[in-house]
Amino acid sequence: MIYQNVHIKSFGCQMNKLDTAMIKAALKKASYQITNDIDSTDIVIFNTCSVREHAEERVFSNLGYIKHLKKSKPGIIVCVIGCMAQRLGEKLLNEPVVDIVCGPAQISQIVSLIQESIEKNKKVLAVTDNIRKENCEINKNLEEFESVFDSDDKQIPSQAFVRAMRGCNNFCSYCIVPYVRGPEISRPPQAIIEQVKRLADEGVKMVTFLGQTVNSYSYQAGEKTYCLADLLEMASEVNGIEWIRFVTNYPSDKYFDQIITAMTNLPKVCNYLHMCAQSGSDRILKAMNRHYTAAEYLGLVDRARDAIDDIAIAGDFIVGFPSETEEDFQQTVELVKKARYKNAFIFKYSPRPQTKSEMKLQDDVPDEIKKRRNIELLAVQNNMSEELSKVFLGKKLTVLVEGLSKKPHLNKSINDDNPQLIARTATDWIVVFNGPASLAGEFATVEITKTSPLTLFGQLCKA
Ligand code: SF4
Repeated sequence: MIYQNVHIKSFGCQMNKLDTAMIKAALKKASYQITNDIDSTDIVIFNTCSVREHAEERVFSNLGYIKHLKKSKPGIIVCVIGCMAQRLGEKLLNEPVVDIVCGPAQISQIVSLIQESIEKNKKVLAVTDNIRKENCEINKNLEEFESVFDSDDKQIPSQAFVRAMRGCNNFCSYCIVPYVRGPEISRPPQAIIEQVKRLADEGVKMVTFLGQTVNSYSYQAGEKTYCLADLLEMASEVNGIEWIRFVTNYPSDKYFDQIITAMTNLPKVCNYLHMCAQSGSDRILKAMNRHYTAAEYLGLVDRARDAIDDIAIAGDFIVGFPSETEEDFQQTVELVKKARYKNAFIFKYSPRPQTKSEMKLQDDVPDEIKKRRNIELLAVQNNMSEELSKVFLGKKLTVLVEGLSKKPHLNKSINDDNPQLIARTATDWIVVFNGPASLAGEFATVEITKTSPLTLFGQLCKA
């Protein structure tokens, strides 16, 4: 069998999407072809996520499909990479359908692992034994991989993610990330800025710095400690880069003022702050091992708003954490109302193996209560998003166009020359309008004529 086509499916967060983009670039360089058609592929790669139970269930259901596919094409190579690979290791390799298991720290070896499995006709395992131990060799390999394969496969024209740091040291009691992504490691600022420059040379206009807790970025070089504010300033000086964002932020006082000052003073830094709250109850925050109170969180929100009027803030929440009472939940509702989020990502708690909350706390909030709280919190947030969105009615906004809208039925005036496009403002509001497809990757001005909680609709203004 000739192994030529590779199909990659990515689950989970932007970190995984970035890893997938780099892996695609490495495979292309090794003369493999990337295909969207899973049925005709020779190699399948699932880049997996372990953050929620549902994400892992989806991977197993996809493996079920491959089992069926392997009946007609037994030589197909199946590779599971990412957080689930690191979490389950050998157990996953014991699945009859799986040929290669590769953790996030080993992605730089992906091409050789595939070749080894093909040539030796054997299963291959590549995960880290002690993921919490800093490993210079692995870091060096990942850094090299990142700098060689950073700029291929822009998933959105003119936009790119740039990793500022890997791993996490926070150990929130419900979270698997520190156990599968390892300790927090900030990348060298020079390597990051070189990458930003290369991306700008290739036409990238917006970069988003990524980190599980990107605001804790800290890199010691000689006498100087670089923080995220320094990175923002250095990236602002790169010609061609017009917008800079960073996600995700952990609520913390450390570096907060420097980051907000950078946002205030540097026009290229977008007025957008994604800062996860998780709960509005101090008791639950403590049980989650989050190191702030609801009042401290809201204090940060106020400081950001005092400095920047039009800042858009997004939040993340978990409802139904062990022992969450109705009173705890109502405190979360209050926090959501006070924080005035542009949008919030709300999840029902699900215990993750090996985490403190799974081992020590009972998942005692019934699923129907979790569901009800999820719906109730979403409704509160929707009201807020709707109120905030109305402010834009009649305004002309600068947007960066992403491409064709995936839901063109929203606007019946679609036609081939003037299809419906999707774009975002600097503050991450989604804007839908009709215009030429050639605008993908370009800035445009759109006058807003209609609003909904999550989407603004408008008309393209003539240049
Ligand atoms: S900050 Fe907490 S929730 Fe976020 S990745 Fe780290 S441990 Fe997980």
